[in-house]
Amino acid sequence: MIFLTKYIIPSRVSLGLILILVSCSSAKKVDFKSPVDTTTKNIKFQVKQTYNLPQLGVYASNDFDGARLNGFKKENDSTAIVIINPENAPINNSPYYAFKVWSKSSKSFYLKFQYPKGFKHRYIPKLKEGDTWRVIDSASIFKQDSIVTVKLELGTTPKLVAAQEIQSSTDVKNWYTSLANNKASYVHVQNFGKSRLGRNLPVLDIYRGDSKGKDIIVLLTRQHPPEVTGYFAFQEFLQTILNDSELSSRFLNKFRVLAFPIMNPDGVDLGHWRHNSGGVDLNRDWGDYNQPEIKQVVSYINKTLKKNEGKLTLGLDFHSTWYDVFYTNTDRENTNYPNFENKWFKALEENIPNYKVNEASANSNKPTSKGWFLNGQNAVAITFEIGDDTPREFIELKGKVSAEEMMKILIN
Ligand SMILES: [Zn+2]
Repeated sequence: MIFLTKYIIPSRVSLGLILILVSCSSAKKVDFKSPVDTTTKNIKFQVKQTYNLPQLGVYASNDFDGARLNGFKKENDSTAIVIINPENAPINNSPYYAFKVWSKSSKSFYLKFQYPKGFKHRYIPKLKEGDTWRVIDSASIFKQDSIVTVKLELGTTPKLVAAQEIQSSTDVKNWYTSLANNKASYVHVQNFGKSRLGRNLPVLDIYRGDSKGKDIIVLLTRQHPPEVTGYFAFQEFLQTILNDSELSSRFLNKFRVLAFPIMNPDGVDLGHWRHNSGGVDLNRDWGDYNQPEIKQVVSYINKTLKKNEGKLTLGLDFHSTWYDVFYTNTDRENTNYPNFENKWFKALEENIPNYKVNEASANSNKPTSKGWFLNGQNAVAITFEIGDDTPREFIELKGKVSAEEMMKILIN
């Protein structure tokens, strides 16, 4: 007996060591031609407050999730300067802003946007009225050189002005919770980790029947906080996969979907222009995994693939830029579904009226998700970019049709 116990203990220890080795190898780094330094940088937090311009009786506040306002100053009796700064620099030109503004008495008032040198106004201002957002009328937006001023009718009820429709981590949670409602048999909502500042990182793990042996599709969005139009396409795409149609049922009996609805919740709630709270562009961290958001998503995807005994067929990462475009990889022949891109784009053009696919193809030299899906997983990888100003109804149509056509291609 004693001999046996002695014998068992060391073997348990070595089993433990093997498990550790396996889990290390599952976060295997992927090499890229042009590495990017994604070690943590300092960011400047905005001070949450209500600004008061006493001589004018005008107030502004950034005291809510998704807000961005770094200063509010009187310029003259009818104008205030709205100061907007990035979380750190260097950074892309995506000057995001969001704040509430109101006044003691009703009046017309002007807001003049001020960004640091080198950055230009990008987003057309929107107003939230009740539950709906509307673009501020172009007759109330004035542009002189590159300085933008907006005219608003102020009163005692605060007006919410933002660069894009606000979709905070709470809004995202409310959306996926209600989407998954009554679908507990095949939609498993979990947190796969925590962000740098401790916010939940959610995933919807979706499959019908046995998970084992199913190949996997990964959907991601909001690595970049202001890219809300990409998120809208992601929402419609996922809703279509979960619409309980016959197509959806057949698809989910064959494939497992991992959907990550908010990859950068800190950046989203802090109103960041692009980075996470480690001051890093998360879509450049897919080689080294220095940031907790990417480290944990990579390890979650790898673990699921291993347990599932399947492969990763397709990775779709939803973003926004100036116009609609699909960024693809040029290497296709050796992926887990060669020719998917051609079939899918053809189907989109056939099923969306008067639509022509805009594709830009290049292998990712920088450590992006698209490069990681290809180089690390042999998966088809596409960055699904929606324009900042693409009409919202068109985004819905595109999200829906692209999900339907993807499912049709993959079940055949
Ligand atoms: Zn992006």
